[in-house]
Amino acid sequence: MQTGQISVQTENIFPIIKKFLYSDQEIFLRELVSNAIDASNKLKTLSTKGEYKGELGELMIDIILDETNKTLTIKDNGIGMTEAEVKKYLNQVAFSSAHDFLKKHSDDTNIIGHFGLGFYSAFMVADKVDVITKSFKKSKAVKWSCTGEPEFTIEDVTKKDRGTEIVLHVSDDSKEFLDKNRIQSLLDKYCKFLPIQIRFGTKTDYYYEGEGEDRIQKTREVDNLINNTNPLWKKKPNKLKDEDYKNFYRELYPMSPEPMFWIHLNIDFPFNLTGVLYFPKLNNSLELQKNKIQLYSNQVFVTDDVKEIVPEFLLLLHGVIDSPDIPLNVSRSYLQSDSNVRKITSYITKKVADKLKSLHKKDEAAYKEKWDDIGVFVKYGMISEEKFYDKAKNFALLKNVNDECFLIDEYVEKIAALQTDKTDKKVILYTNDAKAHHSYIESAKGYGYDVLKLDHVIDNHFIQQLEQKLDNTSFVRVDSDTVDKLIDKEDAKESVLSEKEVEKVKEIFDAAKGEKSTATIDIRALSPTDLPVLVTIPEFMRRMKEMQMMQGQDMGMFPDSYNIVVNSNHPLVAEKLLKMRSADKKEAFANYLVMLAKLNQNMLKGEEMSDFINKSIEFMN
Ligand code: ADP
Repeated sequence: MQTGQISVQTENIFPIIKKFLYSDQEIFLRELVSNAIDASNKLKTLSTKGEYKGELGELMIDIILDETNKTLTIKDNGIGMTEAEVKKYLNQVAFSSAHDFLKKHSDDTNIIGHFGLGFYSAFMVADKVDVITKSFKKSKAVKWSCTGEPEFTIEDVTKKDRGTEIVLHVSDDSKEFLDKNRIQSLLDKYCKFLPIQIRFGTKTDYYYEGEGEDRIQKTREVDNLINNTNPLWKKKPNKLKDEDYKNFYRELYPMSPEPMFWIHLNIDFPFNLTGVLYFPKLNNSLELQKNKIQLYSNQVFVTDDVKEIVPEFLLLLHGVIDSPDIPLNVSRSYLQSDSNVRKITSYITKKVADKLKSLHKKDEAAYKEKWDDIGVFVKYGMISEEKFYDKAKNFALLKNVNDECFLIDEYVEKIAALQTDKTDKKVILYTNDAKAHHSYIESAKGYGYDVLKLDHVIDNHFIQQLEQKLDNTSFVRVDSDTVDKLIDKEDAKESVLSEKEVEKVKEIFDAAKGEKSTATIDIRALSPTDLPVLVTIPEFMRRMKEMQMMQGQDMGMFPDSYNIVVNSNHPLVAEKLLKMRSADKKEAFANYLVMLAKLNQNMLKGEEMSDFINKSIEFMN
């Protein structure tokens, strides 16, 4: 046996590394399995090149848990190492690269050595590490041991087969890694799609024997295989069927409903990237769905937090991105300014836009049908990415209350004739709640206007974005004014009342609206067939209020920002009200009309609602 000192310049860095990496200890398994994969792949390459002439056999990585002896072993039958290589790679390369790594990145705890730390990470969880290895070069086998002090021992051992076994003597404070379920879940997380078969003991398989009544359930022990060595995204798109994509989606997200469609990413210049992105059914929510894209590097799982690589709106997608070109061992802020990452971001954005464009072109009807799900996503993209907006304006749809869809330009052209106001501005009417705005929508339709349905949380932002982008066009919610004023055209109706009578009506309603109300009373000569009294919520004030609400501010700043519009041409006002004799009766009647208007806006709540019902019963009597 020989002993030696690992050449590390500073004092012992094991304690530092242990502490430093504490939060992400679990990555040791990914690192050691990755090394085993590399060792297996190297042998495969040598064999294809003819430099290794021996039997390749079945390349397999075994994870062996021994709870009694408190060891966890990662065993491969890859190239192995000679004694000289052990000394070189483990004592010098591995240790000094870990040391350099720490020196460089000790200020950044997010990055935990992706492949930079490698073998060394074993010491995060083990008191002692044995490496038993035999090179494919038919040399003798050696065993290297290190207890986490800078000293190591190396001795000859007998080992039948080629390859390397890394035996971790798991330390007391890392006992969790002696738990079978914990190891299984780590393997599932990091190794699910690695290219060499990984086996973790055996598992019980249930199967049936016999037919019909004789059918009985039996069990047998089978290899517990962890990974799919040839995942879908690595295959050629033209060799794959829809069913393959759907199956793979199920493999990734067993609980999720079927995706709508997908994009297979495959590029090798100017960077290397493969993957599949799925469009999920969004179901009107935005937050729940994020963190579903998994990032891999050569099939090794890296993270499911891809916000630096994928534009915000694309985080709604699901799937896998695999790129060895994303620099993983650098800090996050650096990542954003990395030119490869920027290129990748715009590549993905472009691919997604192209896909949507082609779907729209290929089958417009099907596209329209899916619009409710796709729409959220497209709008999100149009709001957050200038480049995406420019592409998406050619396939983004606007849907009206009759469920008809139009492209944006198409729509503006359609409404221009009737919905242009006296200043030549085009006014687009919309509702965010078609049921609640029913009577307003009907009035607008009566004028020949079209009303859009924009009822998703994202639509507030989308409307603002469109107003910025479209020339001389504004959006007005259908209840924000009386129908004759929604689009101001200066052809006001004659009032049947004299000026004095109008004054009188105003007085009555001012008294009737209630002391606490700050709403303004507006007397207008509308059509006798329009409603007698209407509550309108001015567009500007409402948006201010919504903005406040979204920022979580107090809404008290804008109390009662609505108008009570009285239709002076309606017979109930022009005749019935004015003819009433007692002032009390007039006020009660006017108050009832105001409540009706509020009811129409869904504004009668609590006490007011009870009051309204009582008054109605009184009137009936
Ligand atoms: P990296 O993998 O980044 O090169 P590591 O610290 O993980 O750094 O490993 C150092 C070196 O040790 C590897 O480059 C490789 O030559 C050797 N090595 C590690 N694990 C194995 C293994 N299972 N089989 C053969 N060689 C290995």
